Amino acid sequence: MTERMTPMELYELTLEQAGRLLRGGEITSAELTQSVLHRIEELDAKLGAFVTVCAEQALEQAAEADRAIADGDISPLTGIPMAVKDLICTKGIPTTCSSKILENFIPPYDATVARKLRQAGAVVVGKANMDEFAMGSTTENSAFGPTRNPWNTECVPGGSSGGSAAAVAADMCTAAVGSDTGGSIRQPASHCGVVGLKPTYGRVSRYGLVAFASSLDQIGPLTKNVTDAALVLHAIAGHDPADSTSVPEPVPDYPALLREGELSGITVGIPKEYTVTKGLDPEVSAAVESAVKLMEDRGATCREVSLPHTEFVVAAYYVIAPCEASSNLARYDGVKYGYRHPEPGELMRMYRKTRSTGFGPEVQRRIIIGTYALSAGYYDAYYKKASQVRTLIKRDFEQALQHCDVVAAPVAPSPAPRIGEISDDPLTMYLSDIFTLSANLAGIPGISVPCGFSSKGLPIGLQLMGKHFQEADLLRAAYGFEQARGDLGRKPDLG
Ligand code: GLN
Repeated sequence: MTERMTPMELYELTLEQAGRLLRGGEITSAELTQSVLHRIEELDAKLGAFVTVCAEQALEQAAEADRAIADGDISPLTGIPMAVKDLICTKGIPTTCSSKILENFIPPYDATVARKLRQAGAVVVGKANMDEFAMGSTTENSAFGPTRNPWNTECVPGGSSGGSAAAVAADMCTAAVGSDTGGSIRQPASHCGVVGLKPTYGRVSRYGLVAFASSLDQIGPLTKNVTDAALVLHAIAGHDPADSTSVPEPVPDYPALLREGELSGITVGIPKEYTVTKGLDPEVSAAVESAVKLMEDRGATCREVSLPHTEFVVAAYYVIAPCEASSNLARYDGVKYGYRHPEPGELMRMYRKTRSTGFGPEVQRRIIIGTYALSAGYYDAYYKKASQVRTLIKRDFEQALQHCDVVAAPVAPSPAPRIGEISDDPLTMYLSDIFTLSANLAGIPGISVPCGFSSKGLPIGLQLMGKHFQEADLLRAAYGFEQARGDLGRKPDLG
């Protein structure tokens, strides 16, 4: 696409389109960044997608990117305005995890992902809102107010990377990065009608990612289409000596591997347990079924697979994640980081006051559950048991993926709920994670691609999950589906 796309506003461009225009000298990063910043100014009071907007730094980075482009020193991300979820450390820019306890925390260093984005020439326009410490599925658990869904501002954007997803959907950035511990990239992507990719555990460095549940956390892109997800993943993936869980596997050239009409070689597995899941909205199952049918019409082979331990997924995750969280969050004690309760008193009292006023209710709930489950004598009954179940879930996927290249599934059991609809009912919220938790427990990659709309006009996503380190297969299948689906034909109406 070399022609100038005049009817489009610059903020509407996909990363790939913007990159071509930047490299062709048809637009500058300064113009693109201005356009995106203006869009944020216009809409963010209504949507609440950002905790911090860094206009000044962004414009400086854009000017630097324009100089780099003039010198011919370019990568696909040079000059691209991006949002970074507010739990990825950015040097000199507040990183709050949407928590009061880190309200004034300004990291003295960049997370590896932030450094890679900077080195690739990306422009960070702001830090995206999220559920506090990434705990939640609606972005209502933010100490700085909820994010709203651009498709219907009465609804949640999903979570916990709801700010990142809403920012991409509302064109307040060209692409974003988020984190996914149990669905937090894929589920908000699904609710906001954008693409979200959780890479394999170990594919992307978590150095400088504020830890939630260390055996599950992974960073990945939220983008306007699959090609853009491939471009961002390529820029952020790879081994990092600073993260001992990152894996020294070579990083394929994902964007170059996407080819049209690729569905013919792909076998799609349909888990029989998923079609009978309680609480699955008929509109979601119909949209996912027709997406799979479309893949089949375009040459994919479909076959039934079985994931027999599906019914234990939520229970296992909601033991493992809170246990690891209770341990990771022990460091916020009013001494080492951020907020300390101002009232004078002895040490234990200061800890207690700091933690009970600095953390929000959902974070406190997880710390209590995790601390209880890990307390002396209980380890075998809870964490160990859940880890054994986790092994069974992982094996289910290994076996299923011997018979297919990707497993197809819904992302969330229903389209985005209304604000307040499930937030005071933790169990309902936990149960809504049924389709996304497995990929984290198994460590495999998963992607959400928009596949339709509910009768109320809310987006619905198709989830594809693949083999360890086979993001290329996943992206190819997702790209094949996206090509077959064609343009979504709608944008959020934001006035
Ligand atoms: N909704 C899940 C939770 O609350 C997953 C969150 C995430 O992936 N960060 O734990």
